[in-house]
Amino acid sequence: MIRTRIAPSPTGDPHVGTAYVALANYAFAKRQGGKFVLRIEDTDQARSTPESEAAILRSLRWLGISWDEGPDVGGPHAPYRQSQRSALYEKYARELLEKGDAFRCFCSAARLEEMRETQRLLKQPSRYDGHCLKLSADESERRANAGEPFVIRLKVPDRGSITVDDMRRGPTVFEWNAVDMQVLMKSDGLPTYHLANVVDDHLMEITHVIRGEEWISSAPKHLLLYQYFGWKPPVLMHLPLLRNPDRSKLSKRKNPTSILFYERMGYLPEALLNFLGLLLAPVESEHEELFGLDDLSRRLDFGTISLGGPVFDVAKLDWLNGHYIRKKSPAELEEAFGEWTYDRAALHEIVALAQQRIERLSDLAPLCAFLFAGRVAVSRETLLSAKIDAETARKALALAMWRLDDGPLFDKATIEGELRAVADELGVKFRDLSRLYYVAISGSAASLPLFDSMVLLGRDLCRERLRTALAELGGVSAAEQKAWRAA
Ligand code: GLU
Ligand code: ZN
Repeated sequence: MIRTRIAPSPTGDPHVGTAYVALANYAFAKRQGGKFVLRIEDTDQARSTPESEAAILRSLRWLGISWDEGPDVGGPHAPYRQSQRSALYEKYARELLEKGDAFRCFCSAARLEEMRETQRLLKQPSRYDGHCLKLSADESERRANAGEPFVIRLKVPDRGSITVDDMRRGPTVFEWNAVDMQVLMKSDGLPTYHLANVVDDHLMEITHVIRGEEWISSAPKHLLLYQYFGWKPPVLMHLPLLRNPDRSKLSKRKNPTSILFYERMGYLPEALLNFLGLLLAPVESEHEELFGLDDLSRRLDFGTISLGGPVFDVAKLDWLNGHYIRKKSPAELEEAFGEWTYDRAALHEIVALAQQRIERLSDLAPLCAFLFAGRVAVSRETLLSAKIDAETARKALALAMWRLDDGPLFDKATIEGELRAVADELGVKFRDLSRLYYVAISGSAASLPLFDSMVLLGRDLCRERLRTALAELGGVSAAEQKAWRAA
């Protein structure tokens, strides 16, 4: 029985890359009558949030991807959330320690920093130097019992190599002396990704691990863990990373990457699904381009997938979306529109916000139109004012974008706090700066209240509008980005 999985970390917005990998795993399992599992990897407690987990699950479902086992649907290997499986990782870490396949490391942060600094100066690869390997088992026990903090590291052979086999790439040899003695358990007793991931893939009987190519360098450590435990490793397949049209790695600085953005922009789930499917299974001729989930299962062929990295080409997505819109009957389109626009509570709020600002009912739709749009038209002339010159405006837009990117919440208080902080940082009155934000977000200086509008539009659409306004004023150079972010 084939079993695949997607193992997202619930930190931040649901990424199109997650959907792309999920789709590959789903299609691969389904074509062979197998099972597809969703597991939440929330071992990074500081960055994981329940909001992010909920958004990932909802976005994947919106796309039409479903799973046979997962935190919301349960299954024979529950729980499917790593934060609820701590005892398991502890047990396996202890087993490794006892067998001598892992060791306690008591090095202080200062010592590790010093070690890295020396390695930098000598131009050596950054890697744990094995200092604590010299401790006897007794001393290690004694210090741990005395309450000294420690992490548990993986013991790595000092010579020889390991061959990682990948479904598409074939065998790749990694020398052990280039592999780090990875931390498996942190000093707080929680596992790192590497240990939790291997233990869970084994216990959940995953037969094929299909994931992004950024994980290839972790594969030697994972295979070593399988060896130490005496477990049969899964078959590995590393998918090429999605790219921006300039072929750099897909990033939200250049292309929106959140699934929520594409939903808010008014893309249809079947169009986005088809688009991601084309990145996984390119077609030879144009009339094979339109397909759904079942066709993808039939077409997907990891043996021939191009390693160049598929380009996330929004123009193509637009074309597909137009096609799916026209394929709908008017009744279906009406339904899709109803599902896409705001719910009753939000519509109620929009009307309430507009009420004080209109003289005629006919003023309502034009005033609110920006909330129903994707991007809004802005220009140098509309963005700039006597109080705010182009330089200040560029910086204000960039800082707002970055500040609003981070942080789990996107509510009125957060937005207001961050935008006021930008004004303070630039030494300008918020009143003078707010006009710029009004125009960037709504396309007009006289509009609905800014912070309320931003909450309604959501983080992704706001980021995109700030980015569009910034581009209109000439964008930000790499040097400015570095200097401004550091400040
Ligand atoms: N939690 C990892 C991630 O966020 C999973 C990587 C893997 O599939 O092994 O991508
Ligand atoms: Zn150490």
